Amino acid sequence: MKTIIEPFRIKSVEPIYFNTKEEREVILEKAFYNPFLIHSNDVLIDLLTDSGTSAMSSNQWAGIMQGDESYAGSPSFFRFEKAIQDITGLPIVIPTHQGRASEKILFSILGGKGKYFLSNTLFDTTRANIEFSGAEGIDCLCEEGKLPTVAAPFKGNLDIELLKKHILEIGAGNIPLVLITVTNNSGGGQPVSMKNIRAVRQICTEHNIPLFIDACRFAENCYFIKLREAGYENKTVREIAAELFSYADGCTMSAKKDAFANIGGFLAMRSEELALNCRNLLVITEGFPTYGGLAGRDLEAIAIGINEVLDEHYLQYRIRSIEYLTNKLIAAGVPVMQPAGGHAVYIDAKQFLPHIPVNQYPGQAFVGALYIEGGIRSVEIGSLMFGKYDDNHNLIPAQLELVRLAIPRRVYTQSHIDYVAEVIIDVFERRNGIKGMQIIEESPMLRHFTAKLKPVE
Ligand SMILES: *Cc1c(COP(=O)(O)O)cnc(C)c1O
Repeated sequence: MKTIIEPFRIKSVEPIYFNTKEEREVILEKAFYNPFLIHSNDVLIDLLTDSGTSAMSSNQWAGIMQGDESYAGSPSFFRFEKAIQDITGLPIVIPTHQGRASEKILFSILGGKGKYFLSNTLFDTTRANIEFSGAEGIDCLCEEGKLPTVAAPFKGNLDIELLKKHILEIGAGNIPLVLITVTNNSGGGQPVSMKNIRAVRQICTEHNIPLFIDACRFAENCYFIKLREAGYENKTVREIAAELFSYADGCTMSAKKDAFANIGGFLAMRSEELALNCRNLLVITEGFPTYGGLAGRDLEAIAIGINEVLDEHYLQYRIRSIEYLTNKLIAAGVPVMQPAGGHAVYIDAKQFLPHIPVNQYPGQAFVGALYIEGGIRSVEIGSLMFGKYDDNHNLIPAQLELVRLAIPRRVYTQSHIDYVAEVIIDVFERRNGIKGMQIIEESPMLRHFTAKLKPVE
């Protein structure tokens, strides 16, 4: 088999600003050891997120010029609506400015005290919006999904028995919906199988609970189904996506992921009644239902991008790039989540830095070391992001201490990725000198975005 090449040529480029290790030490200290507080032109390779960081295609840029900025009834909206209806089969499409705006609207309506939302793993903004409404979120991830180094094809699956158990305990009447995140971002970008989605659908039907999909990376998930699930090898990704959404009553979406847009999102659903409530909130928080917080040009970029993402040459290159970096790290003995996920490489910080206890945030310590060594920006997905405190202010740690290297779509080439591997391996070789971190300032919600830290003496 020949090298899988980037399925695009580069028409427009952006410079990378180089700096030295000594400069980066100062920058990181000034940013309180929080990568979210570093200015992006102080970063060489930015793997903070794959969200909104995609390179748009020449077709998308052409679409931007076609954007119709009418307040109501813009043709850009109808192209956006049709693109989503064609792919998902969901009849009602409500634009929002990004994924969490969809979540805010949905959970403001369905959430509240005494309500529970069950999921494979709720993403951080999803959980925050659920909890902000007064409701609770419960993750029912399968056992293998919690074991970072055990390779299994569908580690994003829900634990069906656990799901049933929670439904019986809580009572279906207190569960406004079950939400399946595809792929499972917080659990390593691991896919969910069609079989699992079908099983969840059946349980939801039995208990009369709606099923929603957090569809941010639906195309990557569908490509994994094609590669790994028997019976799907000869189906197109578009056909697989149609089946996946056929089991759903609705979805939330961040178009900043699998629609190659720099901003945008939507809610889609079947229920007219729910849609009425959503639109009522939409007009006071986002905008009129035919633009929902977006410019007409953004609607065009999404309508085009959400079709481009189903190109299987693209998906082959995409999934292969993540696997390429993962395999290089495995070969060097670096503890990474296996198998490779869809959009990011996840390093197991607990194993990488066994001398740092979880209450000293080994993931955050690694994030800092990686920035200083090579100017690479990554993000902790562990106890800084998901940790809570008990009544005595002791940390209740997250299930996993991961560091995510999210790969922006169509942005970096293979030599950038080779450089990333070299830097990580360098850090790995001198990991014993890396110190733990302590928090000096934090906010009560989504604290990882703004927390200030310093190394433990
Ligand atoms: C990014 C993301 C969201 C939130 O979307 P934003 O556009 O960042 O608000 C929700 N769920 C998952 C799985 C995500 O990856």
